[in-house]
Amino acid sequence: MVKEIVKDRAFLKLPSEPADKSDRQTVTDLCDTLEANKARCVGMAANMIGVRKRILAAYLSGKLVVMINPVITGRSGEPAEETESCLSLIGSSKALRYPIISVEYLDRSFKRKRAIYRGFDAQIIQHETDHFEGILI
Ligand SMILES: [Zn+2]
Repeated sequence: MVKEIVKDRAFLKLPSEPADKSDRQTVTDLCDTLEANKARCVGMAANMIGVRKRILAAYLSGKLVVMINPVITGRSGEPAEETESCLSLIGSSKALRYPIISVEYLDRSFKRKRAIYRGFDAQIIQHETDHFEGILI
């Protein structure tokens, strides 16, 4: 179900908890809400639809990817200042992002995955995982 986007900064600054199989509906809702906003949004964290769980959905190289409890296990390259915007916030801000990251996560079927992402895909994942810590751009 498409959910309303949370814009309350006090809520968005709270950290998120690990997700489990009881959060499948949130995974579906997050994908539906991202899909509904894809003209202006490439990724969303679950707290943006009001659920403080570590789930992200993003279009990575144009493909919808769900990550449950993702952890960035490696960062490399020279970090660069990128200008980003967020559907939950007004305007844009700069954030320091690494060009290459490795990530461990559970996929939509709760299968353990490990992957390396570069460039814009890496930037999106860093932005969304910051949401889990209550970090806003
Ligand atoms: Zn955001």
